[in-house]
Amino acid sequence: MRSIVWFRGKDLRVADHGPLVEAAASGEVIPLFVLDPYFFAPERARDLPHRMQFLLASLAELAATLAGLGSRLLVVPGRSVEVVPRLAALWQADQVLAHRWVEPFARERDRRVAAALGRDGVAFRCFEGETLLPPGSVRTGQDGMFRVFTPFARACSARLDLQAPLAAPRRLPPLPPGLPVETVAIPTVAALGLVPNPALQTGGEAAGQGRLRAFVDGALAGYGEGRDRMDQAGTSRLSADLKFGTLSVRTVWQAVAAAAAGADGRAYLNELLWREFSHHLLHAWPELLTQPFRPAFQGFPWREDEATWTAWVEGRTGYPVVDAAARQLLAEGFVHNRARMVAASFLTKHLLLDYRRGEAHYLRWLTDGDWAANSSGWQWSAGCGCDAQPWFRIFNPVAQGQRFDPDGAYVRRWVPELAAYPTACVHEPWKAPAALQAQSGYPAPVVVHALARARFLDTAKAHLGRPALLY
Ligand SMILES: Cc1cc2nc3c(=O)[nH]c(=O)nc-3n(C[C@H](O)[C@H](O)[C@H](O)COP(=O)(O)OP(=O)(O)OC[C@H]3O[C@@H](n4cnc5c(N)ncnc54)[C@H](O)[C@@H]3O)c2cc1C
Repeated sequence: MRSIVWFRGKDLRVADHGPLVEAAASGEVIPLFVLDPYFFAPERARDLPHRMQFLLASLAELAATLAGLGSRLLVVPGRSVEVVPRLAALWQADQVLAHRWVEPFARERDRRVAAALGRDGVAFRCFEGETLLPPGSVRTGQDGMFRVFTPFARACSARLDLQAPLAAPRRLPPLPPGLPVETVAIPTVAALGLVPNPALQTGGEAAGQGRLRAFVDGALAGYGEGRDRMDQAGTSRLSADLKFGTLSVRTVWQAVAAAAAGADGRAYLNELLWREFSHHLLHAWPELLTQPFRPAFQGFPWREDEATWTAWVEGRTGYPVVDAAARQLLAEGFVHNRARMVAASFLTKHLLLDYRRGEAHYLRWLTDGDWAANSSGWQWSAGCGCDAQPWFRIFNPVAQGQRFDPDGAYVRRWVPELAAYPTACVHEPWKAPAALQAQSGYPAPVVVHALARARFLDTAKAHLGRPALLY
C-alpha cells in the first residue's frame, strides 16, 4: 500500500496524527504539502500576515521532524484540486489520507479532490480530528442541530469517549525508491512579501507542546477566575496551536483532564466546547461566514463611517480597553478574549458598524484567526449569532476595564499615552486633569457611551421589532 499523507495546515504535527500513523502501518508513506495559491499567492498571503508566519514556521519544523524520522516532506506548488490527483497518478499512490476541514470552501475542495482521485481509482480518506467529535454528529433528541450552547455542551460531554492521543511515530519509511520527486523550498515570510514580526508566538509542534505543559503546570490552577483578567497571563494561549494543529484538540483536552484541576479544569474544557460548538455550527450552517445566524438581522442598518472605523482599527477611539485591543491585535496578532468581546461589542453597538468588517479585520490579523471561532465570536458579540449575547446587552467599556483590568496594566501596556494616568481614571481618561490629557495626546472619546448605547437600542428596536417576538 502506498499512501500520500496530505498535510493541510490544520494538522502541522506528527503526534496524534491519524493519517500518518495509518499510512505508516500500511506501507509506503509520501508526506505532501501543497502551496495552494488560494493561500500562498503573495497577494493572498498579505491578507493573513500573522497566520502565514506561524504556519510557515510550523511547516518548516514539520519538515525537519519528518526528515529526522527518516522520511521527507514534499512541498509542491499549485492548486490542490489539480496537484493532488496529478501527483497521486504520477506517484502511483493507492490512497490519499488527510484530516477533514469544516469550512464550506474546504469541503468543496475535498469534494472535487475526491471526485478526481476516484476517477483514477485512488481512495481519498478524510480523518476526523479537527474537533473532538465529528461536526454534525452531536444532535438533539429530534435529530436536529443544537442552537443553544449549554445543552450542546452537555450532549457533547455525554458522548465523549476520547482515546489516548496517538503517539508520534518513532520512525517512518523513507520515500519509495525511484519516486519522481517534485518539491520546492518552503517559502520564507519575506519571499511572500511579508515583514517578519518578532512579537508573534513561535509556531511549531515543539513550541506548542511547551505552551501546553507550561499552562497545565501553571495558569490552569486559577483559570476559572484568571481567564477574564486582561492584565494577567491567565489563559493557555493555545488558540493558534489548535488552529494550525500543532497540537490536536484531543491532546489538549486529555492533558487538562488528566491534571484533575477541579473547577478550573472544567472551566477550561468548557472553552474547548465553545470551540467545538463554533465548528458544529459552521458545519450545519455554512452561510454563517457571510450571513447573520438570526434572519431578523438581515439588512440591519449598519452605518458607513470611515472616521470611526479607522479610529477603531488604529486604537484611537478614546476608550482604553477598545484601543488596547486594537493595538495588541496589530502588534502581536493576539487579543485577550475579554478585550475581543469588548472591542467587538463597541464596534457593532457603540459605533453601529457592520460586524462583518470587524470579523474580516480580525481574520486578517489574528494569528489564531479561524473561520468558525471568529465568525461565532463576532456574531455572538453583535447579538446576531446562535446563542449570542442578547442584542440589548451592551458592554460598558469603562466598567469592563475597571473590573477585568483593575490597575490598568493591560491598557497602559498597549496604550502608552496612558502610562502616567492615575489608576482611578485610567479607564475614564476624560476625567484626568486637563493638563495631563493635553500632554498625553490620547484622543477624546469618539462617542459618548450613554448616547451611543441609546442610538444602538433605538436602531435595533426599530429594525428587529419587539424583543419578545425574537427571543
Ligand atoms: C470577536 C471574537 C473573535 C474571536 N476570534 C477567534 C478566532 O479567530 N480564533 C479563535 O481560536 N478564537 C477566537 N475567539 C475566541 C477566543 O477569544 C479565543 O479562542 C481565545 O481568546 C484564545 O486565547 P487562549 O488560547 O489563551 O484561550 P483560553 O482561554 O486558554 O481557551 C482555550 C481554548 O478554547 C478555545 N476557545 C476559548 N474561547 C472560545 C470561544 N469563545 N469560541 C471558540 N473557541 C474558544 C480556543 O481554542 C482556546 O485556545 C474570538 C472571540 C471573539 C469574542
